[in-house]
Amino acid sequence: MKNDSNIYIIGAGISGLIAAYELEKSGYAPIILEASDGVGGRVRTDEVDGFLLDRGFQVLLTAYPEAQRYLDYDALKLKYFDPGALILKPGNSFAVHDPLRNPSKALSMAFSSVGTLKDKLKMYQLTKTLKSRSDSEIFTSPNTSTLSFLRAFGFSEKIIDNFFKPFFKGIFLENNLDTSARMFQFVFKMFALGHAAVPENGMQAIPDYLRSKLLKTEIRFNQNVKSLNGKNIELESGEILTSDGLIVACRPDRILPQLSGQVKPFRKVVNIYYSLAKSFIAQPLIALLTDDHFLTNNLVFMTDVSKAYSKNDRALLSVSITKPVEVNEKLEKLVAIELSAVTNINAEYFEHVKTYEIFDALPDVEDMQVTIPATNSKAYDNVFLAGDYMLYGSLNAAMTSGRKAAEALILSQQPVY
Ligand SMILES: Cc1cc2nc3c(=O)[nH]c(=O)nc-3n(C[C@H](O)[C@H](O)[C@H](O)COP(=O)(O)OP(=O)(O)OC[C@H]3O[C@@H](n4cnc5c(N)ncnc54)[C@H](O)[C@@H]3O)c2cc1C
Repeated sequence: MKNDSNIYIIGAGISGLIAAYELEKSGYAPIILEASDGVGGRVRTDEVDGFLLDRGFQVLLTAYPEAQRYLDYDALKLKYFDPGALILKPGNSFAVHDPLRNPSKALSMAFSSVGTLKDKLKMYQLTKTLKSRSDSEIFTSPNTSTLSFLRAFGFSEKIIDNFFKPFFKGIFLENNLDTSARMFQFVFKMFALGHAAVPENGMQAIPDYLRSKLLKTEIRFNQNVKSLNGKNIELESGEILTSDGLIVACRPDRILPQLSGQVKPFRKVVNIYYSLAKSFIAQPLIALLTDDHFLTNNLVFMTDVSKAYSKNDRALLSVSITKPVEVNEKLEKLVAIELSAVTNINAEYFEHVKTYEIFDALPDVEDMQVTIPATNSKAYDNVFLAGDYMLYGSLNAAMTSGRKAAEALILSQQPVY
């Protein structure tokens, strides 16, 4: 009886929730052991002083194939960002309209200060090429860095510095565009085919939605798994559980001694929230600070995207820093001063709400793949792995990995005749 099997999943992040969903579809009733007090993993939203604060600025790209498979965008009440970005420079700020999604508009900004005329044509060419390239083709393309890819494609240093670097730094959470061009092409294609969005009530609505689809899964919170030994799961409390099948939907190197040192350190980001009397952008647009002297990489008024992010009449500003910085009170003040320099708004008007220092934000994956062959999910007998770190850092990858691990586990439970 599948329902009687002791099937465990470690981690109630996106990959663990998808694995549970797939297992349920095949008749299993898994138990999720989650170290924290809620579902979502890296996708959580806190309520602080009447504001909704996502733990780190992140967006759902509506073109993600896995998101289309598992999520109901109407139920999430998605709120969309305007395509493009606002480039903030002291005394010279300008909008880059729609360079990723709508090539005709990109051409219309032929003489804007973001790049050269050739860049606009290249943008058109890149959009067209990537829209027609399959995800499998993208993830088997040469594994060069994004920077080398952009240069080889013929983009000027001007548009690389003014647009690609600051925009993709905020996505890759690294400062040199060293990330594989496979990831760049995939994300570019997703922007070209769809929208960046957040659920009306914060990113947490995504894992909450996935959880609401689980009817037979038991989720046990505050259950920190200390180690795995064969079929046995040892909890921090000392309790030992025995499994018939197990999916490790979190970093495995911390609980499986044989994998210790095999997962590269994750990338870090600092996210500072301020409230202001009103938005100085007044559009659902991501703003970029392109000057390397600034600590801030990108910022966005979450209340311009979804009013529900503030339960009072103040605007909520989310600022992301990808540079290595020390998080302290001085940082909040320094960032307010640099924002004052580009906006002419007195730094004192930036009221600090909360700072998040997210150490394990994104995995650093060298050989990014579009999917995982069922056999590659297997760690050892009846133990399977899931998580974005297996493919590339994204909600889409977390979902793929969860499904693949569930499929591999289900296969392993079939009787051998
Ligand atoms: C700041 C930030 C910005 C991002 N931006 C984007 C974006 O814009 N678009 C996008 O697509 N993706 C983005 N991502 C990436 C995306 O959030 C992740 O790829 C995805 O959430 C990973 O899900 P996961 O299930 O693989 O891992 P996780 O979310 O890390 O889930 C692992 C779960 O396992 C639990 N756990 C860990 N150890 C144990 C243990 N020993 N015992 C029990 N439980 C344990 C954890 O508490 C957690 O709940 C961003 C991530 C961050 C942090």
